[in-house]
Amino acid sequence: MKEPYLYLEGIKKLAESLRGDEVIHMGIRPYGFHAGNALAMVIYPILLCEECERLGKKVKFSFFVSLNDYEQDELDGPDYHRFPFNIHPKRTILKFVQDPSGCCDNIVDHYTPIIKDSVMLIKKTYPTVNIKFYETSRVKNNHYFKDYLLRTIENPLEQLSLYKKHTGREILNNPVFYANAVCPKCKSANGDIFIEKQKIHLKCKECSIISEGSYGEFDYWWYHKPMLVARYKIFNIEVSLSGGDHYSEGDFVIRNAFIKLFNSGLKSPKTFFSPMLLGLDERRMSKSQGNASYPKLDKLYKLAKQDYNYSLTATKDLVFNELGEDEYREHLRKIKL
Ligand SMILES: [Zn+2]
Ligand SMILES: [Zn+2]
Repeated sequence: MKEPYLYLEGIKKLAESLRGDEVIHMGIRPYGFHAGNALAMVIYPILLCEECERLGKKVKFSFFVSLNDYEQDELDGPDYHRFPFNIHPKRTILKFVQDPSGCCDNIVDHYTPIIKDSVMLIKKTYPTVNIKFYETSRVKNNHYFKDYLLRTIENPLEQLSLYKKHTGREILNNPVFYANAVCPKCKSANGDIFIEKQKIHLKCKECSIISEGSYGEFDYWWYHKPMLVARYKIFNIEVSLSGGDHYSEGDFVIRNAFIKLFNSGLKSPKTFFSPMLLGLDERRMSKSQGNASYPKLDKLYKLAKQDYNYSLTATKDLVFNELGEDEYREHLRKIKL
């Protein structure tokens, strides 16, 4: 198995290995956007373009950016930190989470423009690249997506064995599921499901309604690790860019194992992991930790360009307040690298 490309040194090596016109995947949970996300989805992709051009390669990358509205609202389970593979959504998927600001239909609609405008800084800096965004729910009828998703629903145990084999983490025998249909009535993603003759049967544990229908009539929760292989397959991904937190979860090995498990016929993409960003409290920046803040992209870019470590630390002059959404939008309108 090839090695992943890591951090600033890795982006330089990756640039050396590319033609300049590859198809590149990035993804995000569209329920916020903070400086750590910006590092992985804006700053390092720009550094990749910069390195390629420095090597005399004109960049014509096609970026596919997945806005994963099929992600859980929050991960729940017996003990997420101790048993990271005995998990389920707390209640529902992001597509059905209310907009906390109250101005949009749901949280995905609220954060999508902020994410898009941030990622488009890559194109503002390198106009010859191509960037496309898509919500996961929009590709649910793709043949491979459907295939791998139904397999995940029907056979979670083979995925459990995969995690056991490749992570060495402690795993309980229950709960074990990595995908589910969403109750059309109350949007709970924790029902009892079975599939018979191509038909979904779902008994909701929340509202007790029994729903039956074809695959296309439902929305789904699908754990992002197996789902990623479907995304690779749909778009013929050659290069995958992710945040460093995924590297520490063992995703490089796990993704390759899923590529084999699904008999996808895929060549494993060249995989880059960016450094993690630590917040002002020196813990990994994430929305769930409560230490997320919007980035000053020009300053983050300067820091990333000179730092070779596996993690970078945010300082007060590098970020806006986490409530500074308007300030950040204004910054996005003016920013130029
Ligand atoms: Zn809104
Ligand atoms: Zn229900």
